[in-house]
Amino acid sequence: MFRCNICAARSDVTPQTFQREVASCSRCGSSARLRAVIDALSRELFGRSLALSDFPVSRHVSGVGMSDWEGYAVRLRERFDYVNTFYHQEPRLDICDIEPRLEGRYDFVITSEVFEHVPPPVSTAFVNLRRLLSPGGVAVVTVPYGLQDETVEHFPDLHDYELVTEEGRTVLRSVTRSGEVRIFHDLVFHGGPGETLEMRRFSERGLVSEFERAGFVDVHIHRDGNPVYGIGWPEPWSLPITARAPAR
Ligand SMILES: [Zn+2]
Repeated sequence: MFRCNICAARSDVTPQTFQREVASCSRCGSSARLRAVIDALSRELFGRSLALSDFPVSRHVSGVGMSDWEGYAVRLRERFDYVNTFYHQEPRLDICDIEPRLEGRYDFVITSEVFEHVPPPVSTAFVNLRRLLSPGGVAVVTVPYGLQDETVEHFPDLHDYELVTEEGRTVLRSVTRSGEVRIFHDLVFHGGPGETLEMRRFSERGLVSEFERAGFVDVHIHRDGNPVYGIGWPEPWSLPITARAPAR
């Protein structure tokens, strides 16, 4: 048995329980990734892994999510000064172009399965992620990544672009800064509505250097999992990462 750290239900451990994207909690349907986000957030905020129902109510702590899963967003809202944001609807947050008033605003930011979809250069998104944080604030980040040497950008010169249908297939039509039109056919989409085109395949090393270049400190890859809460990793990649803005 494991206990869900989001809804507190007990579920049977099966081989699927420890797979990143399988809905393995019998009540709320959380996956190991979603439980790991809360596990990582708890360790960073409280120094240990608490179930979400045991998080102290801390209205002075402000947080923001980027298209967070509503299953934990609703509970984070009860405990923190927390807002979930979206790219396509209010309340909006575009990590490529943040409003100056949000700078230094948040003690934590959660961004799970977002940065692989952000248009290049992705370094802008990392810098803005750090800018959202208060001094010493923490970012909890998940993205799919591999163990290859470098992050692979699928469309490095992307400037002005749109998705268009050509002969029944979705293609990406891009106009480079020099005015050259390019059509890309081999697109990878991740499930869900909106802008879910995969822009890159991160590498672990590439991610760590993006965090460091953006001015983060204490970059930590949460490799261990937490079987009590049904969090474990059959593969050594795509693990949750936390990183902090420097303390003042
Ligand atoms: Zn659950």
